[in-house]
Amino acid sequence: MMHNKSVAELSKELESGKISSVELTQQLLDRLKNEDGKYNSFITISDEQALAEAKAADEMRAAGKATAWTGVPFAHKDIFCTNGVRTTCGSKMLENFVPPYDATVTANFKAAGAVCLGKTNMDEFAMGSSNESSFFGAVTNPWGDKRVPGGSSGGSAAAVAARLVPAATGTDTGGSIRQPAALCGITGLKPTYGRVSRYGMIAFASSLDQGGPMARTAEDAALMMNVMAGFDPKDSTCIDREVPDYTATLNEPLKGLKIGLPKEYFSEQLSPAMEEQVRNAVREYEKLGATVKEVSLPNAKLAIAAYYVIAPAEASANLSRFDGARYGYRCENPKDLMDMYTRTRAEGFGNEVKRRILVGSYALSAGYFDAYYLKAQKVRRLIQQDFINAFKEVDVMMSPVSPSPAFVQGEKTTDPVTMYLEDVFTIAINLAGIPAMSVPAGFVDGLPVGLQIIGDYFSEARLLNAAHQFQQVTDWHQREPQ
Ligand code: GLN
Repeated sequence: MMHNKSVAELSKELESGKISSVELTQQLLDRLKNEDGKYNSFITISDEQALAEAKAADEMRAAGKATAWTGVPFAHKDIFCTNGVRTTCGSKMLENFVPPYDATVTANFKAAGAVCLGKTNMDEFAMGSSNESSFFGAVTNPWGDKRVPGGSSGGSAAAVAARLVPAATGTDTGGSIRQPAALCGITGLKPTYGRVSRYGMIAFASSLDQGGPMARTAEDAALMMNVMAGFDPKDSTCIDREVPDYTATLNEPLKGLKIGLPKEYFSEQLSPAMEEQVRNAVREYEKLGATVKEVSLPNAKLAIAAYYVIAPAEASANLSRFDGARYGYRCENPKDLMDMYTRTRAEGFGNEVKRRILVGSYALSAGYFDAYYLKAQKVRRLIQQDFINAFKEVDVMMSPVSPSPAFVQGEKTTDPVTMYLEDVFTIAINLAGIPAMSVPAGFVDGLPVGLQIIGDYFSEARLLNAAHQFQQVTDWHQREPQ
């Protein structure tokens, strides 16, 4: 039953010598191949590399150089470049792209001796909230037939929920770690902007993108953060600041913790059944000694509008590199250079990506820049100030992650705006650059509900501590989909 064990437990099994990494890796690869047909949570299973990494990990251990991660299997969202292993970002544009280098996050896991089983499915270029925009097909939520797993890190969330891997990386630009974590009943953390290197993480909206952990427990998320966080000279927005041992403070008592409930996040957008689960979770915190008060984020209602100017603007610039000339897809028999550019992009990108490029190019064009892009940036500053003000009064904030539990595939694909509203409770956090978690906190109609815990800049250790303490007195994170 190795597939049911957490990273922390697998680490102990390997340390005790009860199982080797090669044996463990082979077991999980076999299971992954048998089971993933139901979910489509992986784009690439890299068995050869995984077994080679497992062998190297066993040697690392024999040489007395093991870390907590040595020999432990996990997976990467297919947005992190992996040297020699195809990296698609969920797009036809990169269907056959094999990077000649590792992302810093990838390199960090390798240095720790972790074993990557493959690359998880995702919305194309991380644009989406349901994993239906992937060129490699939709992902199915293990909690419900034909239900979405959330997005864009839906493959990682589904794989962890289905016990295919104990943990997986994700990225979060407007909610893409927290929302799929909530919809699949797992634990996810979006770190402070600049805490985790973006080098080699394919760019969507550079001022918002942040990589982070997705796992079943807060303890495992802390173990992932120990590997992922830290300064990287290759990313000019990465912050040079000491990295704590995120597992060291998991057991701090929560007595006296001041929790704020942002009243704007308990609005009519939230169904009463969802609200009840979130409020029950907050009551658990009161039992643990926390105090609760209402706070206000008056500009939060502007977050979606500001985000859907800023993120597409940055995406339109980032995606200009996919032109058929340098790497990735190129159309057949171009007539001339312009024909190559236009047909490559028309054929290589899916609809949602094209929509974002159009919106972004429009917002940045002369004559509209001030009215849209500049205005959105000003709103972003106001939203950030709301959080700064609120954190003068409280230590953390708690809210729902998404307005509803996992919806049925196809339900929101016809109207992009209903899809965008999936992130009403997560997007403002990216605009402000602060960290937030999603923690399993109950069920509605048999589908998981997440509790969002929002923190001030660089408070990841405190968030993980709060999540871990909750997981000592609840078992939502242990529930298994049938
Ligand atoms: N759902 C949001 C979007 O489509 C956020 C995606 C993300 O965080 N990568 O842009």
